Amino acid sequence: MSDCLFCRIVAGEIPSERVYEDEKVVVFKDINPKAEVHLLVIPRQHIESLDSLRAEDDELIAYMMRLLPRLARDQGLHDGFRTIINTGKGGGQLVFHLHLHLLGGKNLPGFE
Ligand code: 5GP
Ligand code: ZN
Repeated sequence: MSDCLFCRIVAGEIPSERVYEDEKVVVFKDINPKAEVHLLVIPRQHIESLDSLRAEDDELIAYMMRLLPRLARDQGLHDGFRTIINTGKGGGQLVFHLHLHLLGGKNLPGFE
């Protein structure tokens, strides 16, 4: 059993509110939402952070980026959204499995 929280969410060992999934990614609601809409987009494969990306991950990262506007629209965010990626302890990363935060709607937070 993996000791990575998000690998365990991908495997279904820890429940989550999934809103989308395919062969490359899983998307679920953040457990502690910072805005009306707060999703986490994660690759099924374990990648620690932006810091550990390799050239062969380029296609996956581009795929995740291009998925964001579609997810935002599906959540009713028709006039925009915010994307945050925390990298490393100094960047506020708490879970070391790469994830894109997709935020929008009421109470959209600043960068603080
Ligand atoms: P980070 O600070 O690493 O960029 O963000 C980690 C995010 O994961 C936080 O926003 C936190 O609320 C969320 N999170 C932590 N544990 C869980 C969990 O078990 N389930 C879900 N759905 N989200 C989680
Ligand atoms: Zn993982």
